[in-house]
Amino acid sequence: MQGNFKVAIAGGGVAGLTAAVALHRLGIEVAVYEKHYGSQQHTTGFTLWSYSADRLAEFGLGPDRLDEVGCAVETTEVRNQSGRVILPMPVGEVSRKLGADSYEIRRPDLLQALEGELPTGTVRRGEAVRTADVAGEKAWIELDDGDRVEADLVIGADGIHSALREVVVGPTELRDSGYRGCSALAPRPEEIMPAQTHIDIWGKGGKAGAGDVGRGDCRWYLTWKKKEDEERQTRAQLLEAYRDWDPLMPELIEATPESEIVHHAMFDIEPIATWRKKRIILVGDAAHATTPFAAMGANMAIEDIAVLVNELQGRDSTEEALVAYESSRKQRAEDIVQKGRRMSRLTQLHSPFAAWVRDQLFVHMAEKDAERITREMASGD
Ligand SMILES: Cc1cc2nc3c(=O)[nH]c(=O)nc-3n(C[C@H](O)[C@H](O)[C@H](O)COP(=O)(O)OP(=O)(O)OC[C@H]3O[C@@H](n4cnc5c(N)ncnc54)[C@H](O)[C@@H]3O)c2cc1C
Repeated sequence: MQGNFKVAIAGGGVAGLTAAVALHRLGIEVAVYEKHYGSQQHTTGFTLWSYSADRLAEFGLGPDRLDEVGCAVETTEVRNQSGRVILPMPVGEVSRKLGADSYEIRRPDLLQALEGELPTGTVRRGEAVRTADVAGEKAWIELDDGDRVEADLVIGADGIHSALREVVVGPTELRDSGYRGCSALAPRPEEIMPAQTHIDIWGKGGKAGAGDVGRGDCRWYLTWKKKEDEERQTRAQLLEAYRDWDPLMPELIEATPESEIVHHAMFDIEPIATWRKKRIILVGDAAHATTPFAAMGANMAIEDIAVLVNELQGRDSTEEALVAYESSRKQRAEDIVQKGRRMSRLTQLHSPFAAWVRDQLFVHMAEKDAERITREMASGD
């Protein structure tokens, strides 16, 4: 990455903007092409684990900035459907031992904070990337309006429906998990949800939860097995379906206007043959989309960028750096996709008996095992 190295990034989500910030800090010329005009609200927020908070701090978004876009988590309580705590996770204590807090993050605010680290005009909104290819030592992208942009490196950070993945490996089928979900922001009900808490509810045939994202709000989410063609549930249907769950959930649905509820289809992708084509490289969901059940997609995107930038910095040849990036990330990403599938089954068991056995196993788990699980999540191991 010497001289006038230019990088074009398709997609201004977590992966694309983190890549832009990390490369800009090294003095590299970057441009981000994002098809949406506003901040994309496709999730209201997510858990940023300690290891990714550490990476973001290296890129200039330290604890002070993360406190502005989210809230440090002290405790995560896994509860069963009726609200009994089955696994208390000491996230704050464990994260501090690892060197950085874990956070509940407001996604649009994090994206805005990342964009704020870049010179004005770096993120070109409303400019969708239609396709890309390589030419000698260069690569190019073609925008929807037909304009072509040449670069020394093209990063495909265009999410689960990636156009650049098609350029790299051809058409890929998405795998439908069979679940649908929704999420929203709502005022945090202080009397039943303490500050700095994340509550994850493992139910029978679905899951739910809420996390304190600071400034008096929490993000909440629900998932359910999709029935026939029903892609969405109305607020009234949700109130009916979750009436007997932990009282936190009906209270949060009640407090949220229908128009504020964001709906999610839950898909992942099977491992793809490669993440690169000469000077085009895939990162984040474009390379390895997973369902949200492992709570790691955004964290994996940040981790991808840390490894990619490190390899680009440490090697003379760009193509060697891309090979090294892919070989150090691919197996891990495939493992996380599998973990997402396992967590989907575990947290949404349909059989009431199996759900009861699961709950009993967790309730009787030793404190040191709860700490071990917390450490695995917070450290990304
Ligand atoms: C309900 C839900 C809950 C989740 N919870 C968590 C969690 O707790 N922890 C966690 O780590 N992860 C979580 N995730 C996953 C996480 O949100 C994703 O893994 C993460 O956003 C991936 O980042 P990305 O930048 O690769 O893709 P995205 O964030 O999807 O960004 C892709 C960007 O590319 C743009 N784009 C797409 N196509 C084009 C194009 N052709 N040209 C230009 N721009 C384009 C899109 O508009 C978008 O802005 C959750 C996801 C969902 C749906």
